[in-house]
Amino acid sequence: MHDFDVIIVGGGPAGAVCARELLHQGVNAAILDKADFPRLKLCAGWITPEVFKDLKCSVNDYPHGIICIKKIYFHISGIKLPLKTRQYSIRRVEFDDWLLKKSRAQVFKQRVKKIEKEKNQFIVDEKFRAKFIVGAGGTNCPVARNLFKNRADKFINRQIVALEKEFKTDYSVKECHLWFFKNRLPGYSWFVPKAGGYLNIGIGGKLDKLNRKNISINEHWNSFINRLKETGKIPDTKIRPKGYIYSLKNKSLQCHKDNAFIIGDALGLATLDMGEGIGPAVKSGILAAKAIISGKGYNPDTISKFSVPSMCMAGLKF
Ligand SMILES: Cc1cc2nc3c(=O)[nH]c(=O)nc-3n(C[C@H](O)[C@H](O)[C@H](O)COP(=O)(O)OP(=O)(O)OC[C@H]3O[C@@H](n4cnc5c(N)ncnc54)[C@H](O)[C@@H]3O)c2cc1C
Repeated sequence: MHDFDVIIVGGGPAGAVCARELLHQGVNAAILDKADFPRLKLCAGWITPEVFKDLKCSVNDYPHGIICIKKIYFHISGIKLPLKTRQYSIRRVEFDDWLLKKSRAQVFKQRVKKIEKEKNQFIVDEKFRAKFIVGAGGTNCPVARNLFKNRADKFINRQIVALEKEFKTDYSVKECHLWFFKNRLPGYSWFVPKAGGYLNIGIGGKLDKLNRKNISINEHWNSFINRLKETGKIPDTKIRPKGYIYSLKNKSLQCHKDNAFIIGDALGLATLDMGEGIGPAVKSGILAAKAIISGKGYNPDTISKFSVPSMCMAGLKF
């Protein structure tokens, strides 16, 4: 049996940052993740300046490719609106690996299945034991499933279904575009340039509305790709996307019970307007670590529900 003060299930941004905060304060925390890092994570990889502020580091400390996006083109009902801002684009395969290494946590490769409580300890898969457990395993987090039951109904109206593809292009792409509500999509599609000639394209929409409108996300994806090809934004080759479902911010979900905490996507913290989840994952990881250290409350409701106001503010500060 491996004994720790805190076991964190999931080594994405939420789990890695939580571990870093705990270890920094001398708390013996370990991470269990089913994947070998660096691992692929479906994501446009857009992060705000606030993420670096929360990580207490400068953009210049980031060792991998990063692009500073100074203007984003919002397309709404055929109108193109440039927004002056300051945001960043990273590749998640690099960013998450960097955060995990930065945490200095002991990481075990473990696909967590069973979590039991014995006296005051959590036992994970009969191999790991700790007084505290943190669920940072994303949408299907086993901690949330095992210890926080009856959550499914709370996700209704909050789930986003997304398709995306990240690939290397031959030409240098500079502009970042977002298309809202195109062809009655209940969400938006994106075109985000990355360092090293990579490009991330994707589409995301509210699952319940898509079901009601009877148009699948795949149909939206096909017309999106055709538009990008017709306008010469991407080459005319076959592009197979990957899909994922995650949840928007949901105040009514239980986030803390005894010594168990839920953070990041496992809790459903992405912003209501843009589906931004990396910043909220980082913030919730810090808040949970502080709650464990101080013994005081954990309140992720303090994390903002919206992204657009801070995107506009970032442009004013620039
Ligand atoms: C297509 C798409 C585009 C997005 N674009 C953006 C964007 O541009 N900007 C933004 O801010 N947000 C974006 N998001 C949201 C963002 O990706 C998530 O909110 C963010 O990754 C949440 O971080 P996390 O640490 O909570 O979870 P994750 O990053 O999902 O990490 C969870 C970890 O848990 C591990 N895990 C899962 N199950 C188990 C198990 N049983 N046992 C052990 N380990 C397990 C996984 O391997 C994974 O490493 C996007 C999401 C999607 C789907």
